[in-house]
Amino acid sequence: MNSITRDAPYSSAYDFYGDPYKLVEFRMMVLNHCSMDCKGCFYKRTENNFNDFASARRLADDMIEHGYKMETCYLLPTDMFDNPDNYLLFDNEDFRETVKKFNFVGIAATLELGYDPKFFDIIYALNDILVVELQVNLSIKRVFNKRYQDIIKEHILSLKENYGDRIVINLAINAGFKITDEEYAKIQELIHYLSEDGIVEINFTFLYNPTITDEKKKDMLKLALGTVNRFGDHYKQHESFDRKFNDRSFLRKPSFVFLGDPTRIYVNPIVPFDEYVFIKKDRYLLEEASYESFLNSYGSMSEINNTIIDECETCEYLTHCMSKHYFNIANEFDLGCFLKIKG
Ligand code: SF4
Repeated sequence: MNSITRDAPYSSAYDFYGDPYKLVEFRMMVLNHCSMDCKGCFYKRTENNFNDFASARRLADDMIEHGYKMETCYLLPTDMFDNPDNYLLFDNEDFRETVKKFNFVGIAATLELGYDPKFFDIIYALNDILVVELQVNLSIKRVFNKRYQDIIKEHILSLKENYGDRIVINLAINAGFKITDEEYAKIQELIHYLSEDGIVEINFTFLYNPTITDEKKKDMLKLALGTVNRFGDHYKQHESFDRKFNDRSFLRKPSFVFLGDPTRIYVNPIVPFDEYVFIKKDRYLLEEASYESFLNSYGSMSEINNTIIDECETCEYLTHCMSKHYFNIANEFDLGCFLKIKG
């Protein structure tokens, strides 16, 4: 592993010339009825009813035609194993054909009640190459509980033993609230022995909740970026850290969020280091499921992807912030320079 990035464990992330592939992520809001109680989860747990899988399949085909590789298809937002009805998705042919175009199918689970082998049987029956990327949602309320730690570890070891190279496991926490120094220290300790790629994913679940006001979202996003920076600084001290900002740019690794009823597909700008930010506004919304619509959104996003403070002009990170469309996020949420936001 040459750097702590989400792409790091995936040897296929670079082409023959050593250049990063153009990769795509889909985030489909299709799972429902979660009984878990993770701190800081603001996802809706019902009515995640995106079901226009023909359009998802069409967009995937069009991106592939334009030179992209489909990297991860996330099935969101709730715990996959908590509701067996979630598996009914796989009865739909367009859904199956969409998922099969990807290298990874991404799911989240707390693992507090274990996992269901049936899900893995379904995925591995689709083809011989799909890998499950499992984000284990850590319960911040329980991280100091030895029994909780043992249960999570036991289930992770069992998953690795049963599925080997066909599963990648990392950790995830929700953000948008204050995390204490003791909680940070404990999470960092858990990352070292439980996360395969040495990182923790930070979930901005509050951005998906329509009942939270824009003003409140601004405050929560600042707290969340403080959390991202805090872990970014931690990775920097780690021996396998190569560079703080990876090659993920808006054009090189677009991420699409799919919402249902009516069908809407949004593309997401990125904060260094290195989380996608869902913004439910028209300039991020694709007119239709096509590469051309993606480029149109890129065009209208570029209109406000402008530097935010004088220091940007001479800053060594200007290219990173610009290429990830961080300035979009900063302008929409009035954030300023993300480096100044402390956790
Ligand atoms: S937002 Fe901060 S890190 Fe990005 S270019 Fe401006 S000064 Fe540099």
